[in-house]
Amino acid sequence: MTAPVRIDHATPGSPAAVFLDRDGVVVTNHPAYLRRVADVELLPGVGPALRRLNAAGRALVLVTNQAVVGKHLITLEQALDIHRHITDTLTREGVMLTASYLCPHVAADGCPCRKPEPGMLTSAIRDLSLDPARSTMIGDACTDVEAGRRAGVEAMLVLTGRGRDEVTRLRAPATVVEDLPGAVSALVDRWSVTA
Ligand SMILES: [Mg+2]
Ligand SMILES: [Zn+2]
Repeated sequence: MTAPVRIDHATPGSPAAVFLDRDGVVVTNHPAYLRRVADVELLPGVGPALRRLNAAGRALVLVTNQAVVGKHLITLEQALDIHRHITDTLTREGVMLTASYLCPHVAADGCPCRKPEPGMLTSAIRDLSLDPARSTMIGDACTDVEAGRRAGVEAMLVLTGRGRDEVTRLRAPATVVEDLPGAVSALVDRWSVTA
């Protein structure tokens, strides 16, 4: 025996998660990418909605495609600064995030993490011992829905961000809701019925 014994511990309380796309769900979507900290703007009601998920014991995991890095429009450092600004803002709102996963690649890279590939979700499921069958992906794009489906996670499509355009192209099953607070209300209602 040369290797240590690894013992995995489930996330305290509950291994269920809510995966959140970032741009268009948590913060305002910018069609030509979010490139500056000054352009970060939380969407209405996001702080209270995410606190409700915390109160329900859900792990919150941000999963964000940032091809703006792979296209060399900003550096990875700048993208991480913007992301940290967003997570700091959520922390000040009293939200507890479990983890973030950021894909810096472009489609041509063929990486396993850029949504609709499920790699960011499957990594989180493995790293954090989450239960996909009790988890939900909330996004504003069909690629979010597809990534959720491939990871074995149910999906909700919000109509903020790109959602109003994307909903017309939706091919996979997803619950369509107005926005993140609407998604959270639907989830919490369901959990209180099945609890
Ligand atoms: Mg989005
Ligand atoms: Zn990637």
